Amino acid sequence: MSVAPDSSSPLYGTYARAAVRFERGEGVWLIAEDGTRYLDFAGGVAVSSLGHVHPHLVEALKAQAEKVWHVSNLVEIPGQIRLAERLTAATFADKAFFTNSGAEALECAIKTARRYHYVNGRPERFRIVTFEGAFHGRTLATIAAGGQAKYLEGFGPKVEGFDQVPFGDKEALAAAIGPETAGILIEPIQGEGGIRVVPREMLRSLRELCDREGLLLILDEVQCGTGRTGRLFAHEWADVRPDIMAVAKGIGGGFPLGVCLATAEAAAGMTTGTHGTTYGGNPLAMAVGNAVLDVVLAEGFMDNVRERSLQIKQALAGMLDRYPDVVSDIRGEGLLLGVKAVVPNGELIAAMRQHGMLAVPAGDNVVRLLPPLIISAEDVREGMERMEGAIASLSAATARKTA
Ligand SMILES: *Cc1c(COP(=O)(O)O)cnc(C)c1O
Repeated sequence: MSVAPDSSSPLYGTYARAAVRFERGEGVWLIAEDGTRYLDFAGGVAVSSLGHVHPHLVEALKAQAEKVWHVSNLVEIPGQIRLAERLTAATFADKAFFTNSGAEALECAIKTARRYHYVNGRPERFRIVTFEGAFHGRTLATIAAGGQAKYLEGFGPKVEGFDQVPFGDKEALAAAIGPETAGILIEPIQGEGGIRVVPREMLRSLRELCDREGLLLILDEVQCGTGRTGRLFAHEWADVRPDIMAVAKGIGGGFPLGVCLATAEAAAGMTTGTHGTTYGGNPLAMAVGNAVLDVVLAEGFMDNVRERSLQIKQALAGMLDRYPDVVSDIRGEGLLLGVKAVVPNGELIAAMRQHGMLAVPAGDNVVRLLPPLIISAEDVREGMERMEGAIASLSAATARKTA
C-alpha cells in the first residue's frame, strides 16, 4: 500500500505514504474516510500516548483555547512553571526548557552540554559520543548525532563534533573518548534503530564512565519516555541518573511539545540570551502537557502499561512458535515493542493494515508496536487476533510460494 511519491502532489516527496485517510479517532481506534476501523498500534509513532481525543486532553485544550493561545517567552507563562515543577519533581532534573519537537529538545541538550564545559573553562570539550543505529532527529546537528548515512547523504558537510561507536562495543567507546569529549548521548531503547534495549548494566557503566572522565550523560527519551516502558522514564529501570535528557512525542499526546531537562549544574551555562524559541512552551502546549501528566502520573496508570506489555509479549511468543517463517524475535519494554520479521517488515505491516491494524517499521527489519498506553486488555486481545490473522496470511502465502 506504500505508494511512490506522487509527482503531481503539491507536497515534498519526502514520504512514501500509505493510501489511507483517517477522519477521526476514538481512544485506540482510528476510523478512515471509508468507515474502516483500524486498531492503532502505531500511535502516531509513540506520540498518541493517551489515544485519540482523550476527554481530559480535549477539555484542557478547549479551556486554554478560550483564554490565550500565545504570548511569547518574553513574559512569564504559568503553565510552563507548573509543568517544569512537576517534571523536575518527578525526575533527576532541576531545570526545563520547552520546545516544539524532539529534534529541538536534542538541539537544546547538545547546546547545554557544550555550554557547560565552556563556562567551566573547558571550551575545547564540544564532542559528543553517540551509538550506531541511533536516531536523534532530522536537523543538521541531529542527523550528525544519529550518524546514519541515509539521512546525511547530500546535505553537505556533516556538523562537526559527533563520534559514533558500535552499539555495545566497550573498547571502541573508550577509544572514542578524548580531551575534546563533552558527553555521551544515548537512547535507553533505540526506537527507529529497531527497538534495541540498552542493557541496564551498560547504562550504569556509561554513568560511571562519565563520572570518571568529567563528561555529561545525555539521554534521548523522546520515544521511550513519558510512561512508554511502564516507568515515567526508561532510565529509571536501570536506576541511573542522567545530567541532561530530551523528551517529546508522548508528553504532548499529539500536541507538538518537547522538553530538555537538566540538572542545575549541567544547565549552568544556559544563561540569559544563550538560547530561545518562539513557540516552545506556549500556553496551548503547556495546557496539554500538564493534562497528559495528570493522567500518566495517576495511581495505577503504569500498572496498565506493564500488564498490557506482558499480555502482548505472551501472545507474540505463541505466534513466534507457530509462524517461525514470518516472525523470529520479540524485543522491547512496556508498550515500546518490536517484532523482528522474517518476511520484509513492510509486507507484515501491509498485511496487518489489511486486517485493520496499524504498526510502524523500524531498522533491523522490525515491526514496532506502539499502542496508546491506555489500551485495555480487551483491545489488546483484539489486536493480537488481528496480528495473528495477518501473520497467518503471510505464512500461507510463503508456503504456497515454496510448494
Ligand atoms: C522521534 C525521535 C526524535 C525526533 O523527534 P522529532 O519530534 O521528530 O523532531 C529524536 N529522538 C528519538 C529517539 C525519536 O524517536
